[in-house]
Amino acid sequence: MPIRYLPETLINQIAAGEVIERPAAAIKELTENSIDAGASRIDIVIEDGGKTLIRVSDNGKGMNAEDLSACLDRHATSKLPGDDLLNIAHLGFRGEALASIAAIAHIDIMTRDQQSSESWSITASGGKKTAPKPCAHPQGTQIEIRDLFFATPARLKFLKSERAETMAVKDMIARLAMAYPEISFTLTADGKKSLNLPSTTKPQERIAAIVGREFRDSALSIDTERESIHLSGFAGLPTLHKGTAQHQYLFVNGRAVRDKLLTGCVRAAYMDVLAKHRHPVVALFLNLPSDQVDVNVHPAKAEVRFRDAALVRGLIISALKHALHESGVQTASTVTHAALGALRPQERPTIALPLGRSAPQASSMPRMSPAMSAALNALHDTASMSEPSYAAEPSAKAETYIETVQDEEDYPLGAARAQIHENYIIAQTDDSLVIVDQHAAHERLVYERFKAQFSESRIESQGLLIPEIIDLGEDQAHLLLSRAEELKPLGLEIEAFGPGAIAVQGVPALLSDRLNIPKLIEDLLDEISSYDTSDTLSKHLNDVLSTMACHGSIRSGRRMNAHEMNALLRDMERTPLSGQCNHGRPTFVKLSLKDIERLFGRS
Ligand code: ADP
Ligand code: MG
Repeated sequence: MPIRYLPETLINQIAAGEVIERPAAAIKELTENSIDAGASRIDIVIEDGGKTLIRVSDNGKGMNAEDLSACLDRHATSKLPGDDLLNIAHLGFRGEALASIAAIAHIDIMTRDQQSSESWSITASGGKKTAPKPCAHPQGTQIEIRDLFFATPARLKFLKSERAETMAVKDMIARLAMAYPEISFTLTADGKKSLNLPSTTKPQERIAAIVGREFRDSALSIDTERESIHLSGFAGLPTLHKGTAQHQYLFVNGRAVRDKLLTGCVRAAYMDVLAKHRHPVVALFLNLPSDQVDVNVHPAKAEVRFRDAALVRGLIISALKHALHESGVQTASTVTHAALGALRPQERPTIALPLGRSAPQASSMPRMSPAMSAALNALHDTASMSEPSYAAEPSAKAETYIETVQDEEDYPLGAARAQIHENYIIAQTDDSLVIVDQHAAHERLVYERFKAQFSESRIESQGLLIPEIIDLGEDQAHLLLSRAEELKPLGLEIEAFGPGAIAVQGVPALLSDRLNIPKLIEDLLDEISSYDTSDTLSKHLNDVLSTMACHGSIRSGRRMNAHEMNALLRDMERTPLSGQCNHGRPTFVKLSLKDIERLFGRS
């Protein structure tokens, strides 16, 4: 077969395959065009997930008849005046979105430009366009797409359910809208208003409207600059973690991107404070001179390349880490809300009574939920459980304790009042109640101390009077012994002890005196065997330290006296990142007096 030149329509259909992959992609192109046209309001309507109808209306600068006809041609754009791909001032620049859409769908455009009193319309279908005709239309542009992919039925088959496509459209609009708070956006899906974002001068208002108030209330604000690269936005506290990376909103020069480098930076910054498969919530805006970034990498313009990737990476990771460290003792407000939700007495459905009997009075009273009564029982136990540890102190000391309580209440985590179930510290500040999970908190403290000791020199080791001999089998013993030299600076000293066994000579001094050494070794082996043999342990240092810290909870399941408890609270306040344990669980919950009063219907 000889080589032949493909017809224009087919070329456009092929191009459309790259750019318009699903309805949300068509919406992205149209909405970006409206943003580029300087619109202050953009209204979007879809039906059946965008498969049968997409309509985007804006009040932007519009087009004259000549441009209207040209806009449907491939590689026709008004946005690259200097032919300079390194100086891109608009979201669009490839001039192929409308041509691509026209090749695979029916498209109708109505528009009026700023200067003229005439409005024009044009239609195209399967790649064939009509001549512009006069019509009635206010200033701005409306583009309507019907039966997307009718000309490429194969693609139609790959679309997801209408619900899934609608969700993708909504997510796409939310992402675009986040970078343009001054533009108002609406989405109507199958006749129902599904997004309503009024214009605002405050970016954080727009973010809250999209991600939720809980994010705004517990996010850390970021604002930093290095060598003309500017990063701003909000980083969620680690305790507000999600099962997917869906809630990461990343922008480069106002362009919503899904970029591996950027998501990698976010992962790296949070690595230390989140469990492996959890994801933080962030909204980050990176702004840099346009010659520092190439946006012409991907037809859908979702990826970018940075001229100095290392600089960008360093800036983002250090800004996020810095913010997380500065955050000190904080947990997300959702943690408090969840706690309150569990405590609040729930409405119970009325149980139908046999006819003729009237309901007893009591059934109309709010009933206590099981969680509530459990909480109250737990509080009830407090008095009897905590008594012995206080009583054990000499009375003179008990008095000083009362005195110090007044001062301690001024600290963020307050004064320890009691310990319940041998693991929860109840503390009070002058306007709140704090519940601390002492096990989780202590694990975090040990971990942070390990990191600090290690970065200064090495982790302090405590020699064992009687070495602990552990039988591991040849393979496991060999694997661990091959790491013996690397484990030494981590405070763990092991030696071979006959075939298939090891002798533990020393353990990190910070670990418990009741440490279960065989269990520690077993967990470490689990951790180490997941690494490549060529990897050094220092590459996985934080994982190894975290595994060791799990065994460091001296205070788990142990009664503590007031001094020990207060010392732990003060330690938490001093230690960065102590608001969550190594797995991203909160280490404490704080309920304000107001919350508690609400719980009892007092306010
Ligand atoms: P690009 O956005 O890359 O230029 P498109 O195919 O998306 O390519 O659009 C082609 C041209 O049509 C744009 O350059 C712009 O001049 C014009 N255009 C498209 N949509 C609008 C709109 N909503 N308002 C005004 N002009 C528009
Ligand atoms: Mg465009």
